[in-house]
Amino acid sequence: MQPAKSKAAFDVVCMGELVIDMVSAGMEAGRQLYSAEPGGAPGNVAVGLSRLGRRTAMVAQIGDDPFARSIAAFLADEGVDTAAVRLVPGAATDLAVVTHGPDGEREFHFYRASDNYGNVAFDDVARHRVQSAAILHVGSVAMISPLSGAAQAAAIGVARDAGVRISVDPNLRPALWRDPTEMRAASRRLIADAQFVKVGIDELIALTGQQEIADGVNALWHPELRTLAVTKGAAGAELFLRGDRLSHPGFAVNAIDTTGAGDAFHACFLAELLETGMVTDDRSRLERALARAVAAGALATTRRGGMTSLPTRPDLDAMV
Ligand code: ADP
Repeated sequence: MQPAKSKAAFDVVCMGELVIDMVSAGMEAGRQLYSAEPGGAPGNVAVGLSRLGRRTAMVAQIGDDPFARSIAAFLADEGVDTAAVRLVPGAATDLAVVTHGPDGEREFHFYRASDNYGNVAFDDVARHRVQSAAILHVGSVAMISPLSGAAQAAAIGVARDAGVRISVDPNLRPALWRDPTEMRAASRRLIADAQFVKVGIDELIALTGQQEIADGVNALWHPELRTLAVTKGAAGAELFLRGDRLSHPGFAVNAIDTTGAGDAFHACFLAELLETGMVTDDRSRLERALARAVAAGALATTRRGGMTSLPTRPDLDAMV
């Protein structure tokens, strides 16, 4: 099936950090090797949507170093509009070094250059894109710097005024915040503005202090919220709607790197929502959307990298 057409110039505008993920890639002669992969959660979602046939634009600031140029080129090659991706003269690009702990869990070590210039700016080019989108997708990392936090808040205000839906993946990165209370408060403010939210189960617990999923969801729920997805790694995901709850047990795959799995899930879920004109009261359609999003997450774990591992429509069609 071809993606449904919408009147908006862009289906989704993704705003936030673009980084290079330095993913550990084995040992050679006693030395650790790393693979430099384009990443950053909002950018992963942009590429994920583009691979699923959706018109997508990115709003971000990066350095003007070779890493920045490789990220911008990657996005453009993937069909993501990069007119609002700014290369900041003389600045470097953020690195996230991703290693794997003894239990196979990912550990992040951040090297932040963007503290000096912020992950996003909201200029006229960005404004035009946000106003002409169906959905604006944001996360909490851009809120760490006051400058880009204000830019993101302005974008959300413009989107709300224009009737653009807001999608949020808080994507908690406690190591980047001075104060975890501030991180939780910022994330909850974002969620309070959103219609479509995706959180990992650990994030739900961190944000609400609730151990039971239903209690955590209740704590975040507000009248404007239409869907709240809770992802559970290999155990799949749950989707909360107004007064309804769907779940999917996950797909067994040979997972080698879970970077970007949550972003693949969310990109696919938004693509499925767009397919139906963002209708959220058709249970069987949403069951299919959930199954495909879970499949997209699972597929992303079978390859290395944040953006490079994101599935295409044929990959997904072959699974669900
Ligand atoms: P995040 O990347 O945000 O932490 P999760 O790890 O929960 O998100 O993964 C998102 C989705 O990716 C899950 O809902 C699931 O569909 C899929 N997924 C993640 N890890 C695995 C795995 N080891 N095996 C199969 N599917 C996985």
